[in-house]
Amino acid sequence: MSDSIVLRACGLKKSYHKDRIAVPVLRGVDLEVEQGLVTALVGRSGSGKSTLMHLLATLDRPDEGEVWFQGSRVDNASRAKRDQFRNHDIGVIFQFYHLLPELSAIENVLAPAMIGQSFFRYLKNRSENRKRAEAMLDRVGLLHRATHRPNEMSGGEMQRVAIARALMTDPKLLLADEPTGNLDTETGHDILMLLDELNRTDDLTILMITHDDEIAAGADVCWRMKDGLIEDNRAPQAAAA
Ligand code: ADP
Ligand code: MG
Repeated sequence: MSDSIVLRACGLKKSYHKDRIAVPVLRGVDLEVEQGLVTALVGRSGSGKSTLMHLLATLDRPDEGEVWFQGSRVDNASRAKRDQFRNHDIGVIFQFYHLLPELSAIENVLAPAMIGQSFFRYLKNRSENRKRAEAMLDRVGLLHRATHRPNEMSGGEMQRVAIARALMTDPKLLLADEPTGNLDTETGHDILMLLDELNRTDDLTILMITHDDEIAAGADVCWRMKDGLIEDNRAPQAAAA
């Protein structure tokens, strides 16, 4: 595998089962995410994008095919290796933020540190973790909302908290599933600008999943999904022509 490919999917197949009938959703997906770039995966609603993202994040297993991260196969790795991959190597954000409603912004950002470390290690590193969580909230421009709970924040603010949480463990790759799908155009634009800045100044590699051609056109590389297959992979400008 070329060193510049961070994440690679080979021949991924996945079916859901309804009344003992298999409904194929992914029919052999190949995908590459190159280090340092913003890669878009674009496709209509129902084309299988979220299903694919769950497989890439090892949140679900493919029926067939493989997922490789930096030269190691992760889809069939041990539970410990998959935990390491999910908790340290990648960050994930979603359309509906998936924040814990009972926790403040800063506690939500701290959550991955609590999950990723043993309890005693967490206690030992508590002030360091807290400093990093504050720095991440500051990075997304939301330190002044540190003690607010999700129901006291706007959609754009909640997505910023979710981004700060994803950055907490210093991931190499951010998987973003329709991160602006629930936001108005202007707020969505601000979130895209933030992700773009994280890509350029913090060298964060991003896989951006979207149904929106305009958003995909802003990426460095664009993969298009249709009927459970990748249709093409072209520079966004070429795709739009
Ligand atoms: P997208 O994210 O591109 O909108 P999804 O991956 O969410 O697409 O869904 C692809 C197809 O798989 C849809 O037809 C959807 O109804 C179906 N699907 C998704 N998740 C499940 C599930 N857990 N059980 C059964 N069918 C599912
Ligand atoms: Mg989806």
